[in-house]
Amino acid sequence: MTNNLHKILFEKFGYSSFRPGQLEIIQSILQQEDVVAILPTGMGKSLCYQLPGYILPHSVVIISPLLALMQDQVEQLKKMGEKRVIAFNSFLTQSEKQTLLNKLEQYKFIFLSPEMVTQEKVKEKLKSIPISLIVADEAHCISQWGYDFRPDYLRLGEWLGDNMDRPPVLALTATATKQVMDDIHTHLNMKKPTQHIQSLDRPNIRYAAIEVDSREGKFDKIAKQIDDFTGPGILYTQSRKKADNYAQKLITKGIRIASYHAGMEQVDRMFVQQQFLNNEIDWVCATNAFGMGVHKNDVRQVIHDHFPSSVANYSQEIGRAGRDGADSLATLFYTKDDEDLSIFVATNDFPDEAHVNVFMEATRNGIQPTQLVSQSLLSETHVRILSYWLSRKTMEETVKILHQLRLQKIQQIHQIKDILLNSTCIREKIVQFFGQAINSKPLNCCSKCGMELDVIVESSKANSSYLTLQSWENRLSSLFHMID
Ligand SMILES: [Zn+2]
Repeated sequence: MTNNLHKILFEKFGYSSFRPGQLEIIQSILQQEDVVAILPTGMGKSLCYQLPGYILPHSVVIISPLLALMQDQVEQLKKMGEKRVIAFNSFLTQSEKQTLLNKLEQYKFIFLSPEMVTQEKVKEKLKSIPISLIVADEAHCISQWGYDFRPDYLRLGEWLGDNMDRPPVLALTATATKQVMDDIHTHLNMKKPTQHIQSLDRPNIRYAAIEVDSREGKFDKIAKQIDDFTGPGILYTQSRKKADNYAQKLITKGIRIASYHAGMEQVDRMFVQQQFLNNEIDWVCATNAFGMGVHKNDVRQVIHDHFPSSVANYSQEIGRAGRDGADSLATLFYTKDDEDLSIFVATNDFPDEAHVNVFMEATRNGIQPTQLVSQSLLSETHVRILSYWLSRKTMEETVKILHQLRLQKIQQIHQIKDILLNSTCIREKIVQFFGQAINSKPLNCCSKCGMELDVIVESSKANSSYLTLQSWENRLSSLFHMID
């Protein structure tokens, strides 16, 4: 069995060995178990369902949170010569959807958004075709986004619950607190899942939290930090406008940078992502819309100009640095007022009691929610969240739930702020937050343990070329080894 898996790994994917955790996860899937797999960002999660796909007899259904992520996975599979792959998303026309639905069982890998899975027609079709495995990719979104702006995530459990003889479910994520794990179990209706958990510590990423006096001061520090180091990076900011502003100002300093946010056309976003992957630009200045599914191994820095919205989001975002294993740096620049601003951003588009009243009043008067959006009385996010809760709970209950969720958002910002501003080791705190412990700390661990930036800059430069050579040598030698 293991020999066969290694053979497929080499023949289909070109790797001579599994990364930590992959083999065990795949074996559990093949034994028909429900599996929750926690692997750090960039450690080969997609292989965990792609490889079993070649052994299992029927289709693999992958529920994926982002269009960019879906397209990336589809491209990956197509590059490997796989033609039986389809992304079923909201960009297809009605007739395209119907045509695809009619022959859905012909596809080996079917990618769907949670919104798509819960549509009646799609649900019916999925019930009627043989499926070998259901995958929830980036499963932490069930918890993070489900309550927030995509309640369809919460409907997945209803779908999986309907399906009594359902195939095994695989939940993949790079971050999981106890709460997220509980949500994954509940909302995916998992049956005593086997858990495979890898250490979430990424020893090659160094953490720094640096206080600055003013917003202008922040810009200067960020510009200097980008300029001092070599290698690509991602600058995370909170709003579309800020992303554009940073990019414009940094370009004048000779930095090859472009902005990326959800307010841009899909085609423009794809273009920026491609430029970044092809090294035509070095930096992307983005909102948190950027990152999932962007496979760039040599990102040397991730900079935040604000407190991220949660520890989970922070570790996802900084996890995009150093996938190649070389030294990388995650820096937060903050001012004293930043916490209030982060809380405002996190709760601004979240409905409260007044929005519930507007929604209910409209419903009573037969006014469609879309009209409320077009009259700017509610946002699309408000409508999505309110439609979900008010169809399941009473008005009073909904108000209570929304209040709880709002408090939770604020608490999540306090948690990440405490970790980054506390006087003890940032690495230790993050790993502890996810219920794990670290084995050892690297030199120059974080700004609390004491770090010399110059050393990291130099070692980063030296390491990145060394690693490239190393990996070529390794690849060659393992190739010869396999042929022997
Ligand atoms: Zn430390």
